[in-house]
Amino acid sequence: MILVTGGAGYIGSHVNKQLHKKGYKTVVLDNLSYGHGDFVKWGTLERVDLSDIDEIKRIFKKYPLEAVMHFAAFTYVGESVENPQKYYLNNLKNTLNLLAVMLEFEVKKMVFSSSCATYGNPVEIPITEDHPQNPINPYGRGKLMVEEVLKDYSAAYDLRYASLRYFNAAGADPGGELGENHQPETHLIPLILDAAQGRREDVKIFGTDYSTPDGTCIRDYIHVTDLADAHLKALDYLENGGKSEVFNLGNDNGFSVREVIETARRITKKNIKAVEVDRRAGDPPVLVGSSTKAREILNWKPRFDDLDEIVRTAWQWHQKI
Ligand code: UDP
Repeated sequence: MILVTGGAGYIGSHVNKQLHKKGYKTVVLDNLSYGHGDFVKWGTLERVDLSDIDEIKRIFKKYPLEAVMHFAAFTYVGESVENPQKYYLNNLKNTLNLLAVMLEFEVKKMVFSSSCATYGNPVEIPITEDHPQNPINPYGRGKLMVEEVLKDYSAAYDLRYASLRYFNAAGADPGGELGENHQPETHLIPLILDAAQGRREDVKIFGTDYSTPDGTCIRDYIHVTDLADAHLKALDYLENGGKSEVFNLGNDNGFSVREVIETARRITKKNIKAVEVDRRAGDPPVLVGSSTKAREILNWKPRFDDLDEIVRTAWQWHQKI
């Protein structure tokens, strides 16, 4: 049985679905602060907060757990700058709680939801796993701190982990059962689709004077179902005795904000109004990863590797919410 913390959230729920497709049994641990109870359509939902160590122990007593997939975290970069304590308590301290209980119950495999935010401003593109890690906000620093803790625990306690550094997660379950629904929403693609639906008047383009071909930021968008596939491969890898590792997960391919908006106009056939505004603080011009290591070691290959597919599945979902 696999414990999926944060399994009611965007990425965790897609992974939970995929685990079930592959025949795993799961327990989803989520406090539902941002997650959606109705995203937990597979396995058992336990409404638990990771700040409560006795409750975590109760779960480990109740279920025969073999591994943990840890998604539970706050994810708003801007908010992490305004209120770092909220982020370090939830994303770092609560992860230490979870790890303490894992060690006590001898559950020694973890797939950890890390981020390309641990790299900070890139000095080289594409970003490989050995690129320097100098995060520029508390969100990224918290994720990096957990990576470091995992490294030390792995050396000392025989715990094995895979830290997966996601680039820009996007798209929705092609089966139409799950998708992205953040409150508040800050991500580019759902905001564009809100504008397509008329729920927002327009989408803002944050900065048009970057040193990129069309002046807007370039990101590496990766389909959430491809991320889910990679988690299952990482779990297989650990179950087959693989050593602790970190992997980038992206498409190795970048698209500008303008290109994403153009793609959405084509797919939705809607006239999406875009308004050019100032840069958003802390946005590097280009973030594109190299996922060669995951492709080689995990034998992972993204299936939805073009932007059209990503936007099409997101749109299919977005029209239902
Ligand atoms: N972006 C934008 N308008 C928005 C939201 C995002 O122009 O309303 C840009 C943002 O500056 C970045 C890209 O879209 O270059 C992706 O941003 P998002 O917040 O989706 O993900 P991030 O890269 O920050 O993780």
